[in-house]
Amino acid sequence: MRPNRLFRNDLLVVAAVAFTYFLCAAGAVAFTRLSGNVALLWIANGPLIAALLTRPATERPLHIAGCFAASVAASLVASPYTALAPMFAVANMGEALLTWVLLHRFRADARVFLSLRALAVFVAAAGIVAPLVAGILPAATLSFYQVGDPWMMWMNWGIGHSLGTLIGTPIALLVMARSTYWDRAPQPGTIPRLLTITGLLIVVTAVSFAQTRLPLLFVPILPLIAATMAFRVAGATLGVFLIALIGAAFTVSDIGPVELIGGSHAFRLQFFQFYLAVLFLIAVPFATMIAQNQRLAAAVAASEARYRLISDHVSDVVLTLNPQGEVQFASPSMRDVTGHTPESVIGKSPAALVHEVDRERVREAYRQVIAEADSVHRFEFRGQTATGGIRWFETTARAVRNADQEVQSVVTVVREVSQRKAREADLVRQASTDPMTGVLNRRAFQDRIDQLRDHTPDRPGTLALFDLDHFKQVNDGHGHDAGDAALLHFADVLRASVRVEDVIGRLGGEEFAVLFPGLSTTAALAACERVRNTLQDGRIHAGGAIFTITVSAGVAPIRPDLSSDEVFRIADAALYRAKSRGRNRSELAAA
Ligand code: GH3
Ligand code: MG
Ligand code: MG
Repeated sequence: MRPNRLFRNDLLVVAAVAFTYFLCAAGAVAFTRLSGNVALLWIANGPLIAALLTRPATERPLHIAGCFAASVAASLVASPYTALAPMFAVANMGEALLTWVLLHRFRADARVFLSLRALAVFVAAAGIVAPLVAGILPAATLSFYQVGDPWMMWMNWGIGHSLGTLIGTPIALLVMARSTYWDRAPQPGTIPRLLTITGLLIVVTAVSFAQTRLPLLFVPILPLIAATMAFRVAGATLGVFLIALIGAAFTVSDIGPVELIGGSHAFRLQFFQFYLAVLFLIAVPFATMIAQNQRLAAAVAASEARYRLISDHVSDVVLTLNPQGEVQFASPSMRDVTGHTPESVIGKSPAALVHEVDRERVREAYRQVIAEADSVHRFEFRGQTATGGIRWFETTARAVRNADQEVQSVVTVVREVSQRKAREADLVRQASTDPMTGVLNRRAFQDRIDQLRDHTPDRPGTLALFDLDHFKQVNDGHGHDAGDAALLHFADVLRASVRVEDVIGRLGGEEFAVLFPGLSTTAALAACERVRNTLQDGRIHAGGAIFTITVSAGVAPIRPDLSSDEVFRIADAALYRAKSRGRNRSELAAA
């Protein structure tokens, strides 16, 4: 059922457009014909172009066919040149199609009057190119049939059609693309305002055109501007249309200010056309600009409202800072997250709330946000809460530019990340420690040697390698668990025997290492002897057994010209010597 109804509705639209075309065309031919039998104001193409712009693609051929018939019928009814009716219809349809193709090609659709760019495309296509191209055919034909100046006829056609389409299309679009142009529901007071302004326009225009004493052509501009400001595109186009109707009625009858310029009747009518074109070019771009600004203002208001809604309700702190770094706005969540009230930070730099260790880094990051205003920046810092506690925060910041492209503010979103930081630190620790003994694992230990060499190249320190003696026997004799207990015991001995700044690592199995930063080999060797003596004196209780273990150590200096692998090899050679010389001893690497 539905497709049938749709089809009936479509046909109704096609018929309405064709009938409107007929009325406009017959009216123009009957009442505003210039000397060359060309109309002064050809608005008929307006409804057709509006239909081509707004109706579905499948309907377009029907509109062309319907308006072709309407154009022929109008010529037959109102024009003395009935034989030329099909030719006129061909030129009219060609003109409308060319306009539509140009609008389509330059992407100016039914919203032509809502953007200045699209409006410019429309004026160029419908006001200049299409009428001049389409006018060639009738001008040539008329000059062939009549004695006359084909050049004048071409100009007359061009101007009449240009003006008519410029005025007729927007009016038709107001009807056919209602939702595009009548975006606001009628406000209370719209109707009285409409009546007042329309009445004013009619009276002022009629008074200006009904007299031939004074050149009052500029006077109707006042109510036209009022109509434009009140009703934007609708006010501008309908206003120009009303002035055209009233002005034409007087001017065609040789009454009104246009008479004052003298010249032929045809010349005066052309001048009147020129006058209407100027009115159009004053009012419609003005209306378009107002519409553009209103849309922009509405978009800004909506985005401001959204931003408010978000910043008032998010759990993160939203801060807006000026380029000097002073807080202009702080969201209510500031109190929950930091304990500081939003009011207490307004007008101040939040740097005071940043832990002094991170303060300079945060200032530098802020300078970066302003310098690279087009990217989003993220940085972390420690901050002071109102109760004096230190927490980790993460800030996402972006600069906002004004119309002159200068940075006018910086919007930041601050989130507390202490828990995440703690988790991260935990993960780092897990990745770098030996799970059984809690000392550093091999990789982390090696990293520390590299760091030490890089940071204090002149006096890096000493490396000692430890390997427990006959450890297989411990496992074999007392069990694997007892072996583990012995390893834990040895780690405790190491921790107890070295300085806090010394670094202990488990390289694997029962091999350990100690890094003595800044310590000479002699002092390190003494430390190893301490470890060795403590260990051999200690008793290990495990699984019902009591036993002792011993350790051998190899000591080597860390040198900036040696890689950590080479230092390890040298220390390992010393350790091997300690083993081969009977174990339970410390050996210094050969110089
Ligand atoms: P040496 O004096 O020559 O060092 O003799 P050693 O028996 O200690 O020989 P080696 O270093 O080759 O043997 C290491 C032994 O340590 C082998 C392995 O069974 C034991 N081991 C390695 N890792 C662990 C561990 O995590 N727990 C226990 N219980 N034993 C381990
Ligand atoms: Mg070993
Ligand atoms: Mg061993």
